[in-house]
Amino acid sequence: MSETCTHNCSSCGESCSSRTAEQTSFLEPLNPASTVKKVIGVVSGKGGVGKSLVTSLLAVETKRKGRRAAILDADITGPSIPKSFGLGTDGLSVNPEGLMVPATTSTGIEIVSANLLLDHDTDPVIWRGPVIAGAVKQFWQEVLWKDIDYMFVDMPPGTGDVPLTVFQSLPVDGIVIVTSPQELVSMIVTKAVNMARKMDIPILGLVENMSYLECPDCGKQISIFGESHIDEISAQSGIPVLARIPITPSIAQHVDAGTIEYLEENWMEAAVEKLLADS
Ligand code: ADP
Ligand code: MG
Repeated sequence: MSETCTHNCSSCGESCSSRTAEQTSFLEPLNPASTVKKVIGVVSGKGGVGKSLVTSLLAVETKRKGRRAAILDADITGPSIPKSFGLGTDGLSVNPEGLMVPATTSTGIEIVSANLLLDHDTDPVIWRGPVIAGAVKQFWQEVLWKDIDYMFVDMPPGTGDVPLTVFQSLPVDGIVIVTSPQELVSMIVTKAVNMARKMDIPILGLVENMSYLECPDCGKQISIFGESHIDEISAQSGIPVLARIPITPSIAQHVDAGTIEYLEENWMEAAVEKLLADS
């Protein structure tokens, strides 16, 4: 019997001669030099709603609270995390044991992303699904994740191959769902909610991005994308709203300048406090 046997064949990932039930867990173990205490996935139904922004802000706030934070950028073909932290390409190195060493941002957040492996950040990643899924697994298993308290996984949009790989292969403790106020988005969000439920992944809460625009002159809140449905979705699904982020020109400026860590707003503070308190 394996040393890591959990004595529960329905959840154990080991294949041994004493197995009494078919293997149902596809969890990939970390390498022995790494520890990651919590893995939080950040998902959305569609692209462009601010998933990468929310992932970055969650990591920034977690780091501000004194915890070791990391981002695994699982959006292999559309990676946008390194740019918002001002990291160029060639940011990853390999240690003598053959493990990838994450790039570190100026405040100490550890990041692994496909863009850190390219010669130019404009080079396209043109890989088929299984190769992309393999890269996500490698980013989990073959990286030196040293004493990470919270890892945030920035997912590509939707319910495709990569979210499936992440949900099956990584021990995801919960997901945060990012949405914008559009009606269409709420339908797509429901798909993400249903996928997580089917896969027994706890949903920590919803973040509504681009909620409103505040008029810089009179302070009035303008609902650019129509009235919010977030409270309805929350009431129907029983999933709490963790944060609402307004459309803010300084976000785009900080993302473009690679200085997202220095954005002074703290919309994610309550969400991160809740996360830390619950775990
Ligand atoms: P996703 O990862 O869901 O595709 P991003 O986080 O990359 O979305 O956001 C898409 C674009 O919109 C980015 O350029 C980002 O800087 C910008 N953006 C996101 N949220 C806001 C916001 N609340 N205010 C202003 N710009 C935003
Ligand atoms: Mg993104």
